[in-house]
Amino acid sequence: MYQALYRQWRPQTFAELVGQEHVARTLQNALEQERLAHAYLFCGPRGTGKTSVAKILARAINCETDPAREPCNQCAACLGIQAGRVMDVLEIDAASNRGIDDIRELREKVRYAPVEVRYKVAIIDEVHMLSQEAFNALLKTLEDPPSRVLFVLATTEPHKLPATIVSRCQRLDFHLIGIAEIADRLRSVVKLANRTISEDAVYLIAEEADGGMRDALSLVEQVLAYCPGDVAQEDVLAVLGAVGRDIFHMLTEALLRRDLSAALFLLDDVVARGKDLHHFTQQAVRYYRDLMVVLACGKEAERMGIGPDWLQPLSKQAKALGMATIGGILAELHGLLAEVRWASRPRLLWELTIFRLFISGGGVAQIAPEPDGMTTQSSSLAKSRPEHVVAAPGKDQPLPALTRMWPRVMDLLKKESVKTHALLLSGDVALRDANTLEVRYEAQIHCEMMDSPENRRPLQAVLKEVFGVELGICCVKVANVTGAFAVEKDPEEIFSSAVEIFHGQVIG
Ligand SMILES: [Zn+2]
Repeated sequence: MYQALYRQWRPQTFAELVGQEHVARTLQNALEQERLAHAYLFCGPRGTGKTSVAKILARAINCETDPAREPCNQCAACLGIQAGRVMDVLEIDAASNRGIDDIRELREKVRYAPVEVRYKVAIIDEVHMLSQEAFNALLKTLEDPPSRVLFVLATTEPHKLPATIVSRCQRLDFHLIGIAEIADRLRSVVKLANRTISEDAVYLIAEEADGGMRDALSLVEQVLAYCPGDVAQEDVLAVLGAVGRDIFHMLTEALLRRDLSAALFLLDDVVARGKDLHHFTQQAVRYYRDLMVVLACGKEAERMGIGPDWLQPLSKQAKALGMATIGGILAELHGLLAEVRWASRPRLLWELTIFRLFISGGGVAQIAPEPDGMTTQSSSLAKSRPEHVVAAPGKDQPLPALTRMWPRVMDLLKKESVKTHALLLSGDVALRDANTLEVRYEAQIHCEMMDSPENRRPLQAVLKEVFGVELGICCVKVANVTGAFAVEKDPEEIFSSAVEIFHGQVIG
């Protein structure tokens, strides 16, 4: 019963066409005023309805119910065309019939007046695939079109067509269909099939279809065939080989908590369940894209395809991360996407990416308050550690973020002010509390210099850039400063130590 869902639910009238109202209106007006062009060029991504519209148009101009803004789909002409029985409606797939002989044959066929219906309609799909000679032959026909012949050329890549062909056609651009519109259509299709589907399952399919209605319908068809009862998110995930959004939500939570082990275990689980990491990466990109959309558009994000159930959780995470961090994550994932498909060890690439995100960016904006008594503890620690940045003992929370990010702070500061950079080299830094960076010097004069606006301002600007929050600066005189700067590691070095940790090699 579900085998032919796509064909069954393919739009049969202009009114049923989803997301291409501008195309429908143009063609219906032309039909009504009997001012159809001799040739139309339908451009647009796959699955957006180009061939469906060509067939609706073929029926509408031949429908026996006259005048027809819509085909009646009842008369002999409509039914004949629908069933593919009418020889006057020709369909060519240029992907497999791209030679000059194919077009010559077509020219031969359109030379004679139609016999069964009023108009001959020649539909050439994937027309950009034609050979140069075939284009030339087609051009001759378009320049001197036989009467009562309508050409519909369809293509996903209009830029590959010769300008001479394009100039002979009226061009109509088909748009990608919005997630919300696809979701609507899916709901009604499932309802008509007397089945039920959960909202997250609907959004998952709509998202996966990436703006193409045909893909969406064929996916829902597979899912309905796969599971006999009500369709839940798990069924869709099983058919797609995908993971649920909650994985990315948890991954982001781990990033915000700076809980590296949780992040690695999440990945381990995905791999253990045999999920394809290329697809997983695509989903990750989509998730962080959505975070950015939510942050930029607020409640309006629903119009950008964010499911209503997800608005609030996404918004919370997006605010915690901040635009710059989300942008950084997206850049990382984008690079990963290019590599992961062909990598012999995609898991390792993912682990390295997670590692880099933890080192370089994700979650730094969320600097939690320091535990009580931290300052004194870290002062004593400062003596035993050969590091410029005084790290907090025990728990993973905010100071490691400072430790990790300090090289970047110093890097940026060097560009901002060489003087301030040099001054910081002779002191130690630590977080006094969530809002204050403490700089420690042995000499009072250094404290005073650091306290001056000309040094304070560049440092604060850089701290804001790196951590996403305003930090106060407080200078104190101490008996002993380590100032060893072991923390100022080369990024290469950090990367290779990451590789060592994972006992692996860098791929690609
Ligand atoms: Zn009809």
